[in-house]
Amino acid sequence: MARYCGSVCRICRRENQKLFLKGDRCFTEKCSFERRGYPPGQHGQGRIKFSEYGLQLREKQKIKRTYGLLEKQFRSLFERAERMRGVTGSNLLSLLERRMDNVVYRSGFANSRVEARQMVRHGHFNVNGQRVDIPSFVLKKGDMVEVCEASRGVTRIAGALESVKRREIPQWIELDSAALKSKVRDLPSRDDITAPMQERLVVELYSK
Ligand code: SF4
Repeated sequence: MARYCGSVCRICRRENQKLFLKGDRCFTEKCSFERRGYPPGQHGQGRIKFSEYGLQLREKQKIKRTYGLLEKQFRSLFERAERMRGVTGSNLLSLLERRMDNVVYRSGFANSRVEARQMVRHGHFNVNGQRVDIPSFVLKKGDMVEVCEASRGVTRIAGALESVKRREIPQWIELDSAALKSKVRDLPSRDDITAPMQERLVVELYSK
């Protein structure tokens, strides 16, 4: 499968926002965005004026890259959000948040979404007692994610749970760190997603 192999810090600088793609490093002074908070490239420090289309494109890229999706995956999730009842933009964010890799990251079992995706692929987690190794699996209200028996000693999970104090576990997730399990208490609402995202611009872009 195609994947981005370049510098992830470059993505934060391009999108002019900290996207927390590198786990612990994002909270230290080594963060590239803290040191060079301007877009990469020769003209990065110049004045950049975006057209309406440019603004919509950048916002779509930012949301897509925050969750680590490729264009095709993002587009198909958007189409699924369109078919759902309610506001398309909010539906899209709810679907993104409920992806298996994101729930693992949000629960604190991994330091970043990239790490969470790898751990899911390696089969470290069960959902409602069944092994799920598909990072794009979308969880429902009431689903229980649990570190499987054979992976309880994995040091990366213990390390991530130790450093999760730096992040906030969202209200819609109920974490039982001693039992290494978390529950989707509720569907995430728009207010639960605190990172600055203007999903309206994505809807406008894809509606052209
Ligand atoms: Fe972004 Fe800073 Fe984390 Fe790099 S270290 S991914 S620039 S937040």
